[in-house]
Amino acid sequence: MTRACALPEGAQRFYHLITFGCQMNDHDSEVLAGILEGMGYRAVDRAEAADLVVINTCCVRASAENKVYARLGELGRLKRRKPHLVIAVGGCLPQREGAAEELMRRFPQVDVIFGARNLHRLPELLARVAAGRPVVGLWAPPDEPPEGLPARRAPGVKAWVTVMYGCSNFCSYCVVPFVRGPERSRPPEAIVAEVEDLARRGYREVTLLGQNVNAYGRDLGNITFADLLRRLDRVSGVMRIRFTTSHPRDFDDRLIEVLAAGRHLCEHVHLPVQAGSNRVLGRMNRGYTREQYLDLVDRLRAALPGVGLTTDIMVGFPGEDEEDFEATLDLVRRVRFDAAFTFIYNPRPGTPAAAWPEQVPLEVRRRRIRELIALQRQISLENNRAEEGRVVEVLVEGPSETDSGRLCGRTRSFKMVVFPGASDLVGKLVRVEILAGKVNHLEGRVVEQG
Ligand code: SF4
Repeated sequence: MTRACALPEGAQRFYHLITFGCQMNDHDSEVLAGILEGMGYRAVDRAEAADLVVINTCCVRASAENKVYARLGELGRLKRRKPHLVIAVGGCLPQREGAAEELMRRFPQVDVIFGARNLHRLPELLARVAAGRPVVGLWAPPDEPPEGLPARRAPGVKAWVTVMYGCSNFCSYCVVPFVRGPERSRPPEAIVAEVEDLARRGYREVTLLGQNVNAYGRDLGNITFADLLRRLDRVSGVMRIRFTTSHPRDFDDRLIEVLAAGRHLCEHVHLPVQAGSNRVLGRMNRGYTREQYLDLVDRLRAALPGVGLTTDIMVGFPGEDEEDFEATLDLVRRVRFDAAFTFIYNPRPGTPAAAWPEQVPLEVRRRRIRELIALQRQISLENNRAEEGRVVEVLVEGPSETDSGRLCGRTRSFKMVVFPGASDLVGKLVRVEILAGKVNHLEGRVVEQG
């Protein structure tokens, strides 16, 4: 007897979806939810109430993997009490070299293992679930999810749209090119149609997703990311368009021009620098120098006054010495990012850097990240205090997560603003006077509605 069919014919089946990782994974989970609901499943918010638990995994850092393993341990205990429970593990982790075998060995309670780019195969994999052995269906090119898969998006103001899959950069620390394959761009017509549909359904802000959106169109040959942005800027009903992630090497002047001329294209660029030392950038295979990065920042600031700049920075990359780390701190002081996601380097199996002998001791990595975070917090606070007294445009997203009595929304430059207001403002553009700048947000009052 198959386990997926162990419930009585016609019985309502429930699924619980757990997502780890980046916005790409969040959006993949929206598609997984759409697929499962197309199969007749209904969502529940607790694994205990589900017949099927799907974990959409990440393996970019060891901590993300460890969280998956911890959840699988809990689900194993649940399955002992609820034997008909089906557990499926998908996303990036199973695609990492040796990970699917490790999952099977350590977690015999897993029924289905699928890959990062074959989520559309989940129904057929579930149909093959049988007691005793997991069904394994990893992704391999050229298999791709077809266009038009249903997505169960949370109702609200903002939506994600994937514009491309994979990455061809092979930074020496990163698993993404191995688990998600080379860059592939979606057809522009499909992206425009999806954004038009979102606008009709009331979404006001669209974030375009890709590991390196600046490479969009390279494989298509007749369109660039700048061209795509120009087309999307003309879609009626969308108030704001954002995108992430940009690669500094591929951010050209044409893209800056289009951003400067765009009406709905937000003045925010997430531009991962990773390190401020040329020696480390070279060993990371990032493809730019600190001078080129600083020049790009100058060009962005000249063309887009008030542009919000955020970044990713890694400390403790193999061979990073004190001078290299000082160069990173120096770059942070020069650029004065509005915010930074900071990470301690963590070796990822199968990547070149993991095999290098010059690993930096953990206590040194920890000391460096503390210094970096303290510096960035100080800069974020100063940048945000400089906003005090200004009036900014905010797209109202809903109640503040930290204070449900107030509303929140972002500036075009991606700063979070919290302010008092009525719920009928949600989804509207308002003008807010900034009264106080904090480390991670601004506080203000609405001075003009609608
Ligand atoms: S650009 Fe580098 S860090 Fe980013 S996904 Fe590609 S390989 Fe990984």
